Amino acid sequence: MLPLRNRAAIVTGSTSGIGLGIARALAAQGADVLLNGFGDAAEIESLRADLERRHDVRVRYSAADMSRPDQVRALAQQAEAAFGRVDIVVNNAGIQHVAPVDDFPEEKWDAVIAINLSSAFHLVKAVLPGMKQRGHGRLIHVASAHGLTASPFKSAYVAAKHGLIGLSKTLALEVAEHGITSNTICPGYVKTPLVEKQIADQARAHGIPPEQVVRDVMLSHQARKSFVEVDELAALAVFLASDAAASMTGTAIAMDGGWTLH
Ligand code: NAD
Repeated sequence: MLPLRNRAAIVTGSTSGIGLGIARALAAQGADVLLNGFGDAAEIESLRADLERRHDVRVRYSAADMSRPDQVRALAQQAEAAFGRVDIVVNNAGIQHVAPVDDFPEEKWDAVIAINLSSAFHLVKAVLPGMKQRGHGRLIHVASAHGLTASPFKSAYVAAKHGLIGLSKTLALEVAEHGITSNTICPGYVKTPLVEKQIADQARAHGIPPEQVVRDVMLSHQARKSFVEVDELAALAVFLASDAAASMTGTAIAMDGGWTLH
């Protein structure tokens, strides 16, 4: 039997990029999945139906805005109503804003903290009672190399990602005896739509070609000199969600091609 058969997962921000890769991988291992995120309604429905058919699992979608605590709670309720349980939560939704602190718009600070950090608190709070009752749960948070180290002009993002690791460690201590683990994945640069936009923005800002942004700015610290692949991160999430990772908790795992070794 597939390792995640009869497990149910929520993956926030899973209409694109890393979250979508993780949702696909969890479904491929037999898990029911609640998708979430923004995008074209017809495309999301075709993705949902395709995953369901391909892997013989139940796949649902919530358009909840992760910056809104009431909508985060509604998403958790939707998953519990659809699947009768939530075993795996992947807090992945995230946005970026790049500006010096003295020029950082307050509303951007609030949005980055709300989506990248506070949504994880609200979602975990909503699913924990059920996980405790069943004596099993997997909390997986997608932070960043920026959860372990800093770069200029990314104050809100760096603060949120460091905060997410702190939340995960605290959770790990609080829920360990209930069979629930909490771990953080810290990717280096992955070529998703979020990063494609940054390449274009930085090329414009520095007046340099996109290839130079990739080589001299993005991958300068990534010893491997290549982007991290979505599939690599998805495989790590599958492992963390599996029974084999029962004793692994409170960790912040860098998958960053060597970036945070500096
Ligand atoms: P992406 O832009 O491709 O996907 C982001 C997803 O989040 C999308 O599905 C989007 O619709 C969703 N989303 C955005 N705002 C939302 C909101 N308010 N409510 C609900 N959903 C929302 O980005 P990605 O690169 O796949 O990033 C995913 C996560 O990985 C983020 O937390 C990001 O910080 C982190 N990360 C990315 C990289 C990278 O290089 N791409 C590196 C380290 C960490």
